[in-house]
Amino acid sequence: MSSSFYERDKGLLIVISGPSGAGKGTICKELLKHEKNLEVSVSATTRDPRNGEVEGKNYYFINKANFLDMIGNNEFLEYAKVYDNYYGTPKSPVLEKMDRGIDVILEIDIQGAAQVRANYPEGIYIFVVPPSIKELKKRITERGTENPEQLNKRMECACDEIRNATKYSYIVINDEVTVAAKQVSAIITAEKCRSERLKSKIEEIIGR
Ligand code: 5GP
Repeated sequence: MSSSFYERDKGLLIVISGPSGAGKGTICKELLKHEKNLEVSVSATTRDPRNGEVEGKNYYFINKANFLDMIGNNEFLEYAKVYDNYYGTPKSPVLEKMDRGIDVILEIDIQGAAQVRANYPEGIYIFVVPPSIKELKKRITERGTENPEQLNKRMECACDEIRNATKYSYIVINDEVTVAAKQVSAIITAEKCRSERLKSKIEEIIGR
């Protein structure tokens, strides 16, 4: 991956992290409505599907043995154990999309983001936070997908996770989803104008 440093025609790798309930998924959905050159990577997980979640769309739901096989076969760009389940990003679909010039978003936890960053520092690292912890609890409770024990676990982890926000290049406060999605779009646009990414374009303009 590192040989691809700032290649102009290559898609961007955008990593979004943030505590459960911060609204990463909703922001991605909103972004997909407006950004035509963008796809969200579908992760594999050992957690059970929630009501309404669709295989291959939300996640690839696989068992632990299959997940461990995929680790052994080096099929993940990154993987981590989060809230007692394994989650991982299948490598080849991401690399293949970026090679075709498509920007790819990974919606992954802080451990996975650190693994990706080690191999791909030119990626775009964005941390999404809720406006307050009170609001975060309200959102997770209203979502109704976690039992009280799971809810408490996610709330306990939330503050620890948010402490990592300043390690990311960008922080987006998700108070209102359309505003937050616009901020992520602006980040993507600015990254595309980075001089490092446009070196070959400049050569082209001056006719070298
Ligand atoms: P959930 O169970 O709510 O769908 O996801 C729980 C946490 O796992 C979220 O923080 C989410 O960003 C993270 N996650 C989802 N997919 C991946 C993945 O492929 N890799 C890593 N490292 N984390 C993931």
